[in-house]
Amino acid sequence: MRIENGEAVVSVRFGELWLRGRNRGRYVNMLLLNIAQRLHGEDVEIIKEHDRVLLRPGRRASINEINARLSTVFGISRFETAYATEPDLASIKKLATGIISKLDKGTAVRIRSHRSYKQLGFDSMDVVERLARAARSRGLKLASRDFGGEINVNITRDNAFVSTNSTKGAGGLPVGSGGKAIILLSGGIDSPVAAWYAMKRGMSPVYVHFHGFPNNDAAELKKITDIADSLLRFSLRYRMYTVPASLFQLAALNAGRSETVLLKHFMLLAAERIAGLEGASMVYTGDCLGQVSSQTPQNLFAESQGIRCTIARPLIGFDKEEIIGIARRIGTYELSVLPYMDVCSINSRNPSTAVRSEVVRALAKEKKLRGIAAKSIRSAKIIEK
Ligand code: ATP
Ligand code: MG
Repeated sequence: MRIENGEAVVSVRFGELWLRGRNRGRYVNMLLLNIAQRLHGEDVEIIKEHDRVLLRPGRRASINEINARLSTVFGISRFETAYATEPDLASIKKLATGIISKLDKGTAVRIRSHRSYKQLGFDSMDVVERLARAARSRGLKLASRDFGGEINVNITRDNAFVSTNSTKGAGGLPVGSGGKAIILLSGGIDSPVAAWYAMKRGMSPVYVHFHGFPNNDAAELKKITDIADSLLRFSLRYRMYTVPASLFQLAALNAGRSETVLLKHFMLLAAERIAGLEGASMVYTGDCLGQVSSQTPQNLFAESQGIRCTIARPLIGFDKEEIIGIARRIGTYELSVLPYMDVCSINSRNPSTAVRSEVVRALAKEKKLRGIAAKSIRSAKIIEK
């Protein structure tokens, strides 16, 4: 598509690794869909180029707003404002020289060129050589690392684009490209961060939250839906099951010091069942080794007994301070620290740090936890956004 000379577009680059191979088309389409959803309501045209996406802002669009929204879309490696010109050497040089001449003398500049259309009478080396000469003659230094300015040229069939100062994108893979993941979402600090890591690798979230309220009352669960809503910037959509924990609590009345681990086992049993309903094969938790008594190696082993899906614990090796840092950055921390009546807080005061796996197996069987999980899910409320 021909873009007017001098017109500014936002040029979006994909990650490199997943571009190779047969799944490429599917990934790119998923990314396009996610960009469109994230930019919904913005006055912008989305154009798919060979190996990038061009966003053509309309008159009512705000480039700052577009950039802010793009920065949370997984699957984007970098993005930049690019100016269009004719795809010939003289025009590229003229446009690039304008940018070069605005840089201070002595600045180290990196010059790169890329062609996604090769049937032109010159190649990327020709472009780089010309621009390098222009830069040197204006007193700039050339550098490939530690540069203070950059000139990027991208040549397509109908246009050449010249840009400077690209912004790092969110990286990762487009949300949805990995299918769905079940995410055990509590009201705490950790599980929203675990959710973010799931999305970063392309998983679309199905949240499962267990609560101690008699009904699935929206007002009582507001803190949890607020957290999931705030993650919509990254996930773009979600499903959520709010599951009453009351049947479990009745059944586990005399589980004593094993109750906390048994509750986690029950949550995982329910998650496994919901994974079956949703066509997901992974369950994410915010567990972190040694953070609380339920998260010792022995207890994590015990709670995972007989769970037939992959349990991912992306925070397992993090320190609390590191997790808080990420929670602040992704905007969930302030919501997580608000007061909430968590089911875990009504559990035994002095939980065992080493529940034996046989004990969990035996208790789960005795108390028919699989059946109770199925029954509890039938009284769950499903929210879709
Ligand atoms: P978080 O900050 O995520 O609540 P935590 O440090 O409080 O974690 P636990 O309460 O032991 O630790 O929970 C460990 C993990 O178990 C949570 O990260 C979450 O994945 C899951 N979990 C705990 N409580 C619930 C709940 N009520 N509903 C759904 N998942 C839960
Ligand atoms: Mg918690």
